[in-house]
Amino acid sequence: MAKSIGRTETRPGAPPAKWPVLCYWLPPLHDIEAQPVRNWTTLGSGVWFVVTVCVAAALVGTGCNAAVAKTDEASFTLVVLPDTQYYARQYPDILAAQVDWIARERNRAGIALVAHEGDIVDADDPAQWQRAASSLHGLDGVVPVLLSAGNHDYRREGRHIDRETSINQYFWPTPVGGTVEDTGTFEPGRLENSYLLLSAPGGPWLVVSLEFGPRDAALAWAEALLDRYSGVPAILVTHAYLDADGSRYDHVGHPGQLWNPHRYFAAGAPGGVNDGQEIWDKLVSRHDNLRFVLCGHALDDGTGRLTSRRPDGTVVQEILANFQTAALGGGGYLRLMRFSPARRTVAVQTYSPYLDRWKRDPDNEFTVRY
Ligand SMILES: [Zn+2]
Repeated sequence: MAKSIGRTETRPGAPPAKWPVLCYWLPPLHDIEAQPVRNWTTLGSGVWFVVTVCVAAALVGTGCNAAVAKTDEASFTLVVLPDTQYYARQYPDILAAQVDWIARERNRAGIALVAHEGDIVDADDPAQWQRAASSLHGLDGVVPVLLSAGNHDYRREGRHIDRETSINQYFWPTPVGGTVEDTGTFEPGRLENSYLLLSAPGGPWLVVSLEFGPRDAALAWAEALLDRYSGVPAILVTHAYLDADGSRYDHVGHPGQLWNPHRYFAAGAPGGVNDGQEIWDKLVSRHDNLRFVLCGHALDDGTGRLTSRRPDGTVVQEILANFQTAALGGGGYLRLMRFSPARRTVAVQTYSPYLDRWKRDPDNEFTVRY
């Protein structure tokens, strides 16, 4: 669910501001009748005409989506994969369906990047890594991928995890080339803390992945990176940041939060552990080029968001998605973030290629500004 705190703003359920985006993201025809009436009536009679034309075009098979993609060349899409752990453990066809759809829609949807929010696997087990790798490597050479390591991706000893993981035996950073202008990692050969500098319509974006409950040194590395690219808008992806009520994980201010990263590591874990509030204090609040924080991990309904304003007035959109508690380990729902640089908006939608269904509620379909 969406929440706001202090001097913040949220705009749940706001419709896209311009008709081409709306038209582009028209749902499959069998879902059109389920559209909330309020989304349409606010758009004015002119837009009614355009929507009618688009639907009519789709009905006669002329391909409304393809036509609109040509008129909206300045936008691009970030695909966000929430926790896939149960697909790697039990439902490999669902992850395969997600990857196949991304590869198939890459050009038409203008997919510039796929970001995984962590918990790629349910356990640091070769069979699960192999299943995840066999699907996700289907995107090699198709679209850049940035992975984030979740708590389930690490080795577990009893109640605790450590920083050992097999992730680097199965995955490696996307190399420089194509739309990837620069890439790097905090530690050589380890992608748990890594980044991509991505060329995209409207200008480059820096996308940074931080390990689960990042160590102090990982935050310092990210800090130097954000300083180096201080003029470039940036997105941070890290597995645990927001709880499902839209508040940051905060082991001091909210000690009752069940899934705070501090609970997963033994006391005195080498290098320290930072939860969402600590990541905010030490990193996000200090770099005005950070526009988004994306995370998974939290349970309940697995959605949450927070819009936070820094003391200098700049804004960060913090967005949680994790559908693992739903049927079929999440049913294959992924997030589509359609960036429109000219309007500085992102239209977020939630779609399952496996089920061919959209989540249309305000927690799963909304537009934010950046
Ligand atoms: Zn997790």
